[in-house]
Amino acid sequence: MSTETLNLTPALYTYLQAVSLREAPVLAKLRETTHTMPGAMMQISPEQGQFMALLVELMGAKKTLDIGTYTGYSALSVALALPADGKVIALDIIAESTAVAKTFWAEAGVAKKIDLHLAPAAETLARLIAEGEAGTFDFAFIDADKRNYAIYYEQSLTLLRQGGLIAIDNVLWGGRVVDALDDDKDTTAIRLLNEIVHQDERVSISLIPIGDGLTLARKR
Ligand code: CA
Repeated sequence: MSTETLNLTPALYTYLQAVSLREAPVLAKLRETTHTMPGAMMQISPEQGQFMALLVELMGAKKTLDIGTYTGYSALSVALALPADGKVIALDIIAESTAVAKTFWAEAGVAKKIDLHLAPAAETLARLIAEGEAGTFDFAFIDADKRNYAIYYEQSLTLLRQGGLIAIDNVLWGGRVVDALDDDKDTTAIRLLNEIVHQDERVSISLIPIGDGLTLARKR
């Protein structure tokens, strides 16, 4: 027993997955394909995908943002959990990795639920706000370039309805956030974002030590 969050040993992590993962075959295949690609470390873990799908189900979400799509695992996890008329607005700038994403979205039969926007995410988010979409999204997953995290957080908060949820990935950054000697721009940006969210009275929060650290922020 522990009054603190348990440190997962490899054996315990294997057990956690064995007794709880229900990964759809198409998601497993996407994970396998991504494993050999550049940037494979950017893919979320299967239990995190399943957790986000559960959140979306709990909320009865219909309209979601996927900021930093890569090969599409998170967007696919969420799309599979959405109702038939649900929508994922996926944002990325890289054609190669999102081409893989599109192949798997089609294979999973959810291509119609996902709109991909290939452009800098801050531009697409600003356009959505300008087009009157503020306050209309249920859920946003932020997992793009870390240096713009604070911008994506603010824009997502604007686009979310009251009671909507933002999930921010990599907030523990492989443990680098507590390395006082690490003044890398990405590390610094994540520390700053964590401080901003912690102090932000507009949201209720929890930092979940799943994957590389996932902060949940619910718009009040
Ligand atoms: Ca990530």
